[in-house]
Amino acid sequence: MRYVYADNAATTKMSESALKVMIENLEEEYGNPSSLHTVGQKAAVKLQNARNQVAACLGAKPNEIYFTSGGSEADNQAILTAAAIGAKKGKKHLISLAIEHHAVLHTLERMKKQGFEVTLLDVGEKGIVSVDAVRAAIRPDTALVTIMFANNEIGTIQPIAEIGELCREKGVIFHTDAVQAVGHLAIDVEAMKIDMLSLSGHKFHGPKGVGALYVRKGIPVTNLIEGGAQERGKRAGTENIPAIVAMAAAMEEACAKIDENSAYVSALRDRLIEGLSKIPHSRLNGDAKKRLPGNVNFVFEGIEGESLLLLLDDKGIAASSGSACTSGSLDPSHVLLAIGLPHEVAHGSLRLTLCEYNTEEEVDYIVKTVPEIVAYLRDMSPVWEGLVKGESDYVIQ
Ligand SMILES: *Cc1c(COP(=O)(O)O)cnc(C)c1O
Repeated sequence: MRYVYADNAATTKMSESALKVMIENLEEEYGNPSSLHTVGQKAAVKLQNARNQVAACLGAKPNEIYFTSGGSEADNQAILTAAAIGAKKGKKHLISLAIEHHAVLHTLERMKKQGFEVTLLDVGEKGIVSVDAVRAAIRPDTALVTIMFANNEIGTIQPIAEIGELCREKGVIFHTDAVQAVGHLAIDVEAMKIDMLSLSGHKFHGPKGVGALYVRKGIPVTNLIEGGAQERGKRAGTENIPAIVAMAAAMEEACAKIDENSAYVSALRDRLIEGLSKIPHSRLNGDAKKRLPGNVNFVFEGIEGESLLLLLDDKGIAASSGSACTSGSLDPSHVLLAIGLPHEVAHGSLRLTLCEYNTEEEVDYIVKTVPEIVAYLRDMSPVWEGLVKGESDYVIQ
């Protein structure tokens, strides 16, 4: 059966070259980079090369890169780092967005229990924060602004360079969760005045369980894991060399092809958006232009996103109703609620996320299949029946 993978925001398939590098390393470079013998030193060289590659893609210096177990760990470490620096100076105010990933939101919740005050800014119905709102929220005791580069559900891209400029001017540390952006959007930590940045290998065709935190030179990093002197004493544990070198290879590949991939994938995205927009009482969530090349997120009134997903899977289409992390819970997505969708409508969401491995033919298959399933589900839906009979009003015209 045909299988269309359209859930690239949840995770991606590894690229052939990253997979090859990973297998080679598992087979041959088994040394521990802390060992002084030849096999250990070979691993140390691989590690350094990977660090150089990752740094180069971000416009950073190699010793500003700390390898982690993924995006979540990097987010945790960034927030704890800024909080520790702030606390020393009596600054206990943190600023972020209501639509952040739970790796950020739940870490902020933890900081609240430790006496920090957290301001979560609104993003309006387009899902983009205004720089003025960030400016207005910054106080003399603000220790950190943490704002995601691009959202994992609705794909909106935040004005990162402007926020970086503002934070630098105000002397506030600026962290960005760039897990959805790295490898997909051009990033330069110097030009964008980013102090800390999180990334994750499996969102750009690298392996899972590996990521990195960029920390600008001069910022003292707090370590989450105590132990040996790996990662300049800031992240103990023998380095996962096969995953790190494979992530670096995937990142280098993605960064080299960023313009080409972005042009190709955004054309697919726009074709998909155009096709799905024809479904009555549907709406594209997020901004039409300031969005990730591969992100499509719709709500269809009168249906349950979960049922839509399962029926799509039966037809060989892998999609998501929002974030993979919240599926399985019955709460609607916090992101869709934050952009003003009522609960009952937010339940009818569908996220399709494309990458350069998808084809026009696959998009056309999705455009043909989704309306059929939406119509089928609406036929069975008492909510839809009420809307059709005029017993309640459509939220989406
Ligand atoms: C996937 C994702 C994460 C978590 O990354 P892991 O490597 O899976 O821990 C964090 N933030 C965003 C925006 C993500 O999309």
